[in-house]
Amino acid sequence: MRNTSLIVGTVVVIAAVAAIFALREPALLKAEASSQVAAAAGNGDWLIGGHDAGQTYSSPLKQINAGNVGQLGFAWNYDLDTKHGQSSTPVVVDGVMYLSAPWGFVHALDARSGKKLWSFDPKVNDAITSKVCCGITNRGLSFHKGRIFVASLDGRLIALDAKTGQKAWEVDTIIDHERGYTVTGSTYIAGDLVVIGNSGAELDARGYVTAYDTQSGEQRWRFFTVPKSTTGPFENPELEMAAKTWDPNSFWEVGLGGTVWDGMAYDPQLDLVYIGVGNSALYPRELRSPSGGDNLFVSSILALHAGTGRLAWHYQTTPGDQWDYTATQKMILADLEIGGRQRQVLMQAPKNGFFYVLDRATGELLSAEPYVPVTWASHVDKKTGRPVETGQGNYSGKPVLIFPSPAGGHNWHPMAFNPQTRLVYIPALEMGAVWWMPKEPYKYQKGGINIGALYSFPIDGAIDWGLDAEASAKMPTVAELAKGQPDPTIRGYLRAWDPVANKVAWQVETSDQWAGKMNAIWNGGGVMTTAGDLVFQGRSTGYLYAYRASTGEQLAAINLGVSIMAAPMTYELDGEQYVALLAGFGGALGGTHPEGTAAYRYGNAGKLIVLRLGGGAVPLPAEIQHAKKFATPPAPRHGSPETITRGTDLFKRHCQHCHNNSAATGTVPDLRRINAQTYGEFEDIVLGGIRASRGMGSFKGLLTPQDVEAIRASIINDAWQAYDSEQGATGSDAHAPPPPDSNATGDRK
Ligand code: CA
Repeated sequence: MRNTSLIVGTVVVIAAVAAIFALREPALLKAEASSQVAAAAGNGDWLIGGHDAGQTYSSPLKQINAGNVGQLGFAWNYDLDTKHGQSSTPVVVDGVMYLSAPWGFVHALDARSGKKLWSFDPKVNDAITSKVCCGITNRGLSFHKGRIFVASLDGRLIALDAKTGQKAWEVDTIIDHERGYTVTGSTYIAGDLVVIGNSGAELDARGYVTAYDTQSGEQRWRFFTVPKSTTGPFENPELEMAAKTWDPNSFWEVGLGGTVWDGMAYDPQLDLVYIGVGNSALYPRELRSPSGGDNLFVSSILALHAGTGRLAWHYQTTPGDQWDYTATQKMILADLEIGGRQRQVLMQAPKNGFFYVLDRATGELLSAEPYVPVTWASHVDKKTGRPVETGQGNYSGKPVLIFPSPAGGHNWHPMAFNPQTRLVYIPALEMGAVWWMPKEPYKYQKGGINIGALYSFPIDGAIDWGLDAEASAKMPTVAELAKGQPDPTIRGYLRAWDPVANKVAWQVETSDQWAGKMNAIWNGGGVMTTAGDLVFQGRSTGYLYAYRASTGEQLAAINLGVSIMAAPMTYELDGEQYVALLAGFGGALGGTHPEGTAAYRYGNAGKLIVLRLGGGAVPLPAEIQHAKKFATPPAPRHGSPETITRGTDLFKRHCQHCHNNSAATGTVPDLRRINAQTYGEFEDIVLGGIRASRGMGSFKGLLTPQDVEAIRASIINDAWQAYDSEQGATGSDAHAPPPPDSNATGDRK
């Protein structure tokens, strides 16, 4: 059995009661058959990640409200024995709380006391971590008819008896384990089906969702989101239509992405399952589908008939996407009065920066307005439903600053809809990225990262070109690239969006001290709202904030001592309302812990924290005494400038999305702080997989020993630069790199 306390490592590559269960089916999932899918349970439970089938992240409870939320304090907590990121929202049914954690672990707790009832280890083979793009996180589980449904990181869908934690059934949902598939997404319930997608569009996955019978585990249907050729065979008939939007010479070998890795929703009355489809790989149009085309169903919202898995309608948010503008963000189903008519709508704030309101019965576009700065398109044409591109999004020639960035105007962090205020609360990100094409021609890498483009976020006003100082100095500055463009300073906001008037009702900046810095990207977490006129959102500082839902007035800020990303939930038991959330930093770009974060101050031990009125202060972990930032690097600089540059390129392609090497501490280590022992074991770690149990799988087959040596040379070079800079020793040539003709393997031996 895995010792979970060891799961503090490195993840890899690049950018989760009794017999009455049987009686008490979550009838609301089906019987909530008012057209207001968002209507809630009517009791104190919270059955699935987003509270209800419409994924509103909204509760009708109001014992805790705008008048008394200042008295919210500690009830109990539960330690998760992992330092990986926590992204899921717990579920509470009949006095029992169920939560999912990294790898696909499940814990069942007494929701009154936090006493553990059972836990489940999916026993994932550690080798899977080399295919993980963005942390070994898990975004949630579902409860249905006495069972818990969760997906493991390696793609198994598992049904557990909710009372005992015993496995009822398990199926392998992955079609090809040689490719870059993982599963970090939540399960979703649609009638008596459980639906699951997968991740890996940056690698070489071909996206699909599969629906299984909740009782038997039998597969009911599977829907592929992209074709595998223009000539078939077409596994689902809709692919024949989709194939017409691809060049026959598309780069089929790479799988072409379109993974469904996060948002879904279900309308029981229409019996439609809504799925959000991700980006394609390769990113650049000219590499992926040379003659162009919309490339269906990339970056699209699809409505599927739950009974058959056949397509009801599709709406593509970003035709021919080449900016990682996934439409996988969570979707909210609600009823809104628009133009004097009551409409059943689906709302989404996908990465591309436009807030979409669609008629969820027909897919008709009702509105699409920018909720953050957008430069790749001027607007969405209401007649055609298509974005009108500006040309600013073309990076095939010279480097160009494009808004939003691949992190999106909004990422996976749940947004929430409050039926009282009629507002959607979006964890929004004002941020662009600079894109350019690599010098070397693209070459397919099986099971590896296959995006075919380069981008960098303007962190601290600079672009990391992956070049040495001299070559970087010749590249355009951020100021030059930003001329005539929005402010490139990265800022996060909690934005209350009126989806009828299409405007910001109120907003709070959530950047804290990190405006313009890396940590601003993931500082504002998922959102939950209640009938108590409240909105809750946590930050990486470890503070949980409560705002008045109608005005944005800050009402409470509670230090939980753990950095927060996941959306909170609330439940009522024995007449008392609680607020609960999982805390722990991680996931894409969240693997490093800059000063000022709770993860830096207190470590990053994952916790479930439960709050109640009058509970008093939350007990905080002991503060960590941090040593001097940079110790002397474990070796002199080595490798020619060419080797270092090559190593930097390889680092960007294979390592940077986890090891962003910009912070003091992290779940994913800053490799500039590598010690002599780790330095000596570098090749055994990267190729030999000796730290796979800590999340760092082997890159054998993706990297050669020479590649690893070049990466090591580039890391040592970066370490010396950071060390010298801290010592104020800039200009010193004491550690200057050796001349270009020196042995690339340097003095390692
Ligand atoms: Ca992506």
